[in-house]
Amino acid sequence: MSSSSQKSLFGPEPLPWEEADREDILCADVVFNRPLDTVYQYRIPDELRGRLQAGQRVKVPLGRGNTFVTGFCVGVSPPAPDAPQKLKPVHDLIDDEPLMSQNMLRLTRWIANRYLCSWGQVLESVVPAGVKNQAGTREVLLLRLSSDAEQKLAGLELPAKQAAALDVLRKSSKPLTLDQVAKRAGCGSGPIGLLRKSGIIEAFHERRDTDDNDPTSTAGATAETPIILNPEQQLVLDRVLGAVRTREHKTFLLHGVTGSGKTEVYIRAIQEVVGYGRQAIVLVPEISLTPQTIRRFRSRFRSLAVLHSHLSDSERHRFWQRIARGDVEVIVGARSAIFAPTPHLGLIVIDEEHETTFKQDSTPRYHAREVARQRAELEGIPLILGSATPTLESFARASRGEDELLRLPKRVAGRPMPPVYIVDIRTDPHIQGGGSIGRAMQFGMQEALQAGGQVILFLNVRGFSPVLWCRGCGEAVKCPHCDISLTWHKSDNRARCHFCDYDAAPPSMCPKCRAVGLKLFGTGTQRLEQEVKARFPKYSCLRMDSDSMRRHGSHETALDAFRHGQVRILLGTQMIAKGLDFPNVTLVGVIDADTQLHQPDLRSSERTFQLIAQVAGRTGRGERGGKVLVQTCCPTDPAILLASQHNYEAFARGELDHRQQTQSPPFQHWARVILRGPDETETKQAAKLMADAFRAAALKLASSVRLLGPAPAPITRLQNNYRYHFPLAADGIEPIQQLWRSVIATEKLALPKDVEYTVDVDPINLR
Ligand code: ADP
Ligand code: ZN
Repeated sequence: MSSSSQKSLFGPEPLPWEEADREDILCADVVFNRPLDTVYQYRIPDELRGRLQAGQRVKVPLGRGNTFVTGFCVGVSPPAPDAPQKLKPVHDLIDDEPLMSQNMLRLTRWIANRYLCSWGQVLESVVPAGVKNQAGTREVLLLRLSSDAEQKLAGLELPAKQAAALDVLRKSSKPLTLDQVAKRAGCGSGPIGLLRKSGIIEAFHERRDTDDNDPTSTAGATAETPIILNPEQQLVLDRVLGAVRTREHKTFLLHGVTGSGKTEVYIRAIQEVVGYGRQAIVLVPEISLTPQTIRRFRSRFRSLAVLHSHLSDSERHRFWQRIARGDVEVIVGARSAIFAPTPHLGLIVIDEEHETTFKQDSTPRYHAREVARQRAELEGIPLILGSATPTLESFARASRGEDELLRLPKRVAGRPMPPVYIVDIRTDPHIQGGGSIGRAMQFGMQEALQAGGQVILFLNVRGFSPVLWCRGCGEAVKCPHCDISLTWHKSDNRARCHFCDYDAAPPSMCPKCRAVGLKLFGTGTQRLEQEVKARFPKYSCLRMDSDSMRRHGSHETALDAFRHGQVRILLGTQMIAKGLDFPNVTLVGVIDADTQLHQPDLRSSERTFQLIAQVAGRTGRGERGGKVLVQTCCPTDPAILLASQHNYEAFARGELDHRQQTQSPPFQHWARVILRGPDETETKQAAKLMADAFRAAALKLASSVRLLGPAPAPITRLQNNYRYHFPLAADGIEPIQQLWRSVIATEKLALPKDVEYTVDVDPINLR
């Protein structure tokens, strides 16, 4: 980095453009898609002056070899006081227009700072590939009259063909391509070329879509019958509209049970925002799981962009352009839709805010909720977080009054919440015989099916760690040091804690109740399918999990078959627990509530509660009512008990107490440092080296950050790499940021070449 100057990225100084009103603007501030915390300055050559702006990409020389690399211009400013005399120049400009507004530049810088990665890495991931390579557009050459055409023509007698071509352009209200002019004038390209040569007409380039269809138009969607809000919904809406009208940044936590009319409230609030000529972003956990919600939005707005993961590059590009022009009223999408380039954003909604898909699990490891909070603050607009089971993070904030808590405690139209029955399966003969469907579940299913109803069975197994569990007391074996279940490792028959590295032979009896014969978990959806088919051969059954639903559109096909009654029993993983609305479902069965409960995860109780509440939300929506059966070996566990009573707030308060006592999030911030490499010993040593460097730095800085480990990660091997990790914990996020930056910037960590590290701030899984 010989002669490009460097500035610290996260100091208190203003953003580059904030000092851009100094007279002599000379340098482009450039960041790169590399883990570098610096902004490099390059001289702007005369030919690029006035054209180069913050938000465009540039080609610049980098490093000793001065190879040209792509960078992101994040500002245009005078040279820093300590800049060298001769700065390297910007080599070329890649984009004609900025890809990012100034607010989006601020937002991406905030993400880099918050999630401990570089600004360039964030920018790279935020701008879709299709936008960067302008997919689906082509450059066209257009012709028009020159501004001084009439002067040039004065007293000139044009040959007939040139005159005809000129006439075509004179009569056209917009510029035309060469082909268009030639065709209309009945001439070749020769006369047109001569007109250009004499300066009477001029040519210029413009980018056009290769396809003229408007993908955001909702024309043709069937209108819904209007709904009259109930008084509770109206109250909630009024609070939100208050903030919309005063253009106030405020976060609302809308805690409403399933079917309480939350979506209807979002729609009303967005209609108001759209009425002011503004746009709204709605984040949903996963587009393919929410076809019904999408249909509702389509029927209520003029233009809607649905950003799903199956869009092609060119589709994504066209959405982006339309959104940036302000042509799209509502953007619905998964977490990355938070970066939609709306020019006048008026409201952000996050539906099902508790879902883990809002956290990205590759760099930048941002949480869309926190990014949304930041964006809403930058734009001075309200944010609504909606859920039947808010995260404890969100509930704690709202309880402290930092956000406003709004409640919809009842379902609309007087519909009851379904009764949830806990079924203790510890002594069930079916289960003891190796089955998954206990006696009560079997009777319940029989009853529902015979009465013409439909059944959903829910099993949560994919991607789960094997835990040791006692059949006697229904408890999982926990680490003596951490409040986390031990994971069983089949290869060497050891029980390990993946947090502190406790390691022991699996106990032969339960440490708690001393019963012998600890069990391991594991029932697959496929096995369950076989059992269902054997027990209910008369009824059609459909399995839905990520294995059977790989193809795009397969969800919708499967759900349609279920909706129309061709399928009577639907079984699957959590993907069927989400926003679906089937009036004919009269029984929902949770096969095993404990799998979730005993996961080696801080949030296992919270997730168990969420699971039961969401599953319960799938029934009792129609006239026929419905019920829920939850099979468990822990019938007295508070998560299970309170979920069966639909008592979220009691659960949340109890769990928050527990988290406070155990010094866990949301009372603590965590960051998880993960190392991976092809060689186990090397990776382990690297993890130790790095953890030691952190310990030493923490001591030196008198940092409040606490460290544990390193330990093998629960997923010990992934894609041929061994994985180790260690957590950093502190009361706030700042000490962690400070420690991280100090170690990464100053310690010369001599890690083996093929060991890579990454950090996950506010991790939501410890895998
Ligand atoms: P949630 O998002 O809380 O699950 P929805 O907004 O989807 O709730 O509402 C559940 C169902 O009730 C939907 O079919 C919706 O159309 C309907 N609904 C919502 N509000 C009302 C209301 N005020 N009166 C009658 N039906 C309503
Ligand atoms: Zn432990």
